[in-house]
Amino acid sequence: MSAETLRRIVIAIDGPAGAGKSTIAKQTARELGYTYVDTGAMYRATGLLARERGVPLDDAERLGGLTADLEFGFPWVGEVLHTVVDGRDVSHLIRTPEAALDASTVSKVPAVRAALMVRQRAMAAAGGVVMEGRDIGTVVFPDAELKVFLTASSRVRGERRWKQMRDRGDTSMSLDDVITDIERRDHQDSTRAVAPLRPAEDSVVLDTSKLGVGRVRQTILRLVAARQEDPDVEITQSGA
Ligand code: C5P
Repeated sequence: MSAETLRRIVIAIDGPAGAGKSTIAKQTARELGYTYVDTGAMYRATGLLARERGVPLDDAERLGGLTADLEFGFPWVGEVLHTVVDGRDVSHLIRTPEAALDASTVSKVPAVRAALMVRQRAMAAAGGVVMEGRDIGTVVFPDAELKVFLTASSRVRGERRWKQMRDRGDTSMSLDDVITDIERRDHQDSTRAVAPLRPAEDSVVLDTSKLGVGRVRQTILRLVAARQEDPDVEITQSGA
């Protein structure tokens, strides 16, 4: 089948912080010529704007109102995907450990999730999307043609995050503190009542600490090819 006639599918990539979602989702999207969507950035930006505008992070009603009014944009600047909210580039401001925890806190609010989900679904209306998050395969796109759940031990994930911080020149946290933060966020994300972090039943679970990023990407591309040819093809992890 030629590239032109292949179906442009929706690929959901979920998993905890530091599992390698962004790297793998971005590379996969580039390889396929698909749109890449980072839903975590939307939750981070919502938390940031709430804090800046003095909206308490447990005030569900005001948070819902704020989220519904936000205008998001995701322009590429060279190789980097930026996050623009209400006309302001917040890409750097949302990448702090505080912004990550605030995102996790506001993400518990059903009205915030509902308002962001409307936008996430709209962004995939034409297909050809790689969307990463926590609930993409379970809630946002329960019918996604391919669902991948990436995981790794909290130590490996913490080491990756810690290294990323140091590469940015941020030496404010020890490795142990980063691991503790990640475990706190995992707990908050997987025990919340709405859209908790968990693998969809029909997802392919891949451990990036065992397989490595290159192998995981190859596996996903192989699964995409199978899904494009036949959406009902049975997918198992054998041979991953
Ligand atoms: O992926 P990232 O670390 O940027 O996500 C920040 C936080 O946003 C997560 O810890 C999670 O609480 C929340 N989130 C979510 N659902 C998504 C994406 C992110 O609840 N689809």
